[in-house]
Amino acid sequence: MSEETAFLQAIRANPDDDTTRLVYADWLDERDDVRGQVVRLHLALRSVAPDHVHRVAGEHELSLFRKGLSHEWLTVIEPERSHLYETPVRPVYCKCFPGLYDPQPKQKVPPVEFHIEPQDTECEPWKRLCDLVEEAAVDGREEFAPLRGVTSEERAQIVTLPQTIGKLTKVKHLLLYGSHLVRIPPEIGEMTNLEKFTPYTSYRLHWYPYEITRCKNLRDSTVSTRALYGNRNYHPPFPRLEPGMHAGRVEPTELPLKCTKPDTVRRCSVCDRPFKDQRQHRVWISLRVATDVLPLLVNACSDECIGRLPTPAKHYLQVTHRGDPDVRQPHTTQAGSRGDPWESDGE
Ligand SMILES: [Zn+2]
Ligand SMILES: [Zn+2]
Repeated sequence: MSEETAFLQAIRANPDDDTTRLVYADWLDERDDVRGQVVRLHLALRSVAPDHVHRVAGEHELSLFRKGLSHEWLTVIEPERSHLYETPVRPVYCKCFPGLYDPQPKQKVPPVEFHIEPQDTECEPWKRLCDLVEEAAVDGREEFAPLRGVTSEERAQIVTLPQTIGKLTKVKHLLLYGSHLVRIPPEIGEMTNLEKFTPYTSYRLHWYPYEITRCKNLRDSTVSTRALYGNRNYHPPFPRLEPGMHAGRVEPTELPLKCTKPDTVRRCSVCDRPFKDQRQHRVWISLRVATDVLPLLVNACSDECIGRLPTPAKHYLQVTHRGDPDVRQPHTTQAGSRGDPWESDGE
């Protein structure tokens, strides 16, 4: 067996082991093989938060490196994208919430993790989506339904929306029915005329950026609430918010992304002022947004801005928190004296 085959076998056998990947990256670097950079970038992106300020640039960089590499190799390095290397591309279904959670579990609830798939910014469906956003920004349309007429194979290749959606200031209805999205960028908060939001049956979309609360005209939403962290019926836990990194991942100093430096600048989810992101003030809050109570991820500049957050929705956790298998929404049975307090919570 060649040395390289041994590395790939070890990674395939234990895809979560960062150390083997780093040793393999060094081995590739020593041979001036550009794939060493791919391995490191992939590690970096799976280590940083999904809402990280440099994620977009990092994913674009990775997309460029990925071009022309063998699908067989990429499948080993990026098992979370393996369905995209099949012919035809296979849509993938979320496995975050295995079965329905028992509201009062006897055993410890397993932790959930964010979806880590990076967006391939070099694939055709993504490029078409970006063009559509530009078109819509120019023609000032009021309904934006970028996935209408898009095949399920093509949808599977779109896991987020471009930051340019912030230009869609005339759009009143954003329709994302049946998407494969795993995150929405904070720029959605710039869609100031948004009245109606329909991400219905986007079953991999488990959370939203706090910035969505800036859409002051938003009145109507159709969200598949069973897919939400802290959902009112099944009470799945929230992913734990580490200061920027996922638990148990490689040390940031070993990674090539700019984003691993702790002093990157981003804008506060609450006051919108730029601040040096130490990732110390990231919290979850459950708030009513239009028709639904959504789990919102706040990335704030300070304790003061955390303190300025509104009171969480009635019957939901009444505090902001950093998530954890042990931090869960109040049980239905404890939430009120009525038979089903969720049905008419009067908000
Ligand atoms: Zn999921
Ligand atoms: Zn702030």
